[in-house]
Amino acid sequence: MPEPLFLARLSALKSQTRERKVYRQDRERRILARVEAEEEENQHQLDSLLATRTDLDRGDVHRMVIPAGRRNAVPLSSARVETYREHLVAVAAEAENYLSVADISEDRNLRSAAMCVQHEKAFSPDSRVQKISDHICGTCRGACCSSGGETAYLSPLSVRKASALYPDLDKDGIIELYLSRVAPVTIENACINQTPDGCSLPRELRSDICNAYFCDPLLEYHRESAEQSPKPAVLAIQREATFGGTLDPDASNAILDVVLVTEDGVGRA
Ligand code: SF4
Ligand code: SF4
Repeated sequence: MPEPLFLARLSALKSQTRERKVYRQDRERRILARVEAEEEENQHQLDSLLATRTDLDRGDVHRMVIPAGRRNAVPLSSARVETYREHLVAVAAEAENYLSVADISEDRNLRSAAMCVQHEKAFSPDSRVQKISDHICGTCRGACCSSGGETAYLSPLSVRKASALYPDLDKDGIIELYLSRVAPVTIENACINQTPDGCSLPRELRSDICNAYFCDPLLEYHRESAEQSPKPAVLAIQREATFGGTLDPDASNAILDVVLVTEDGVGRA
């Protein structure tokens, strides 16, 4: 390559690298500014609550930012129900290969089943944290449930567990039990069991993947409240996309709702 051309290309490359660096630094600066601004807004919400609720001390309330699940409710199509039925038929047929839950050594829900045992141990001395967590998930409306689709993460292990709970039901009875829990109106592009009022499956019929999962804000609450007694209530600040830092700095992440969650339910903050 002739030297003048080489030098021109080198100069263009250097200028491109400089521009990219400036863009990255500017983006990081705007994300940081946004995280700080949201942190201030969140703290303001807690301060306002404590100013009006003089019966509450700072240590009585855990501040949490939660996401927002999908909202668009639509009539459930027969095609989705049919796909769900096919899934249930397949996993129920496989479940018949096992005499008991203990015989299952390979299953997508096994690891989560072990985590459920850990959660139960942690929750058993004081059920308040579990009740509060359930109410928070209801408020969130299952932001983590969107990929449940027409399987709801149910596997042979889930069906085998359901059979142990309902010993009078045969394979077809268990399939019908699951199908009977599907609501006529569900959330669009989400799990078939996700409704405007939360999951339509009772906890004992859900997969272990569903029962074991807690998002980071909930896990942080579990960790922080582990040594506290009584367990703190939660001021849940619901934002469009949860964490400014993980977003495009220009995308909206407004506060959608602020509620005070106790073991008795969800109240206005
Ligand atoms: S675990 Fe987190 S993301 Fe999932 S429903 Fe509960 S609050 Fe929402
Ligand atoms: S079964 Fe319920 S908890 Fe599990 S993904 Fe579906 S809506 Fe969420």
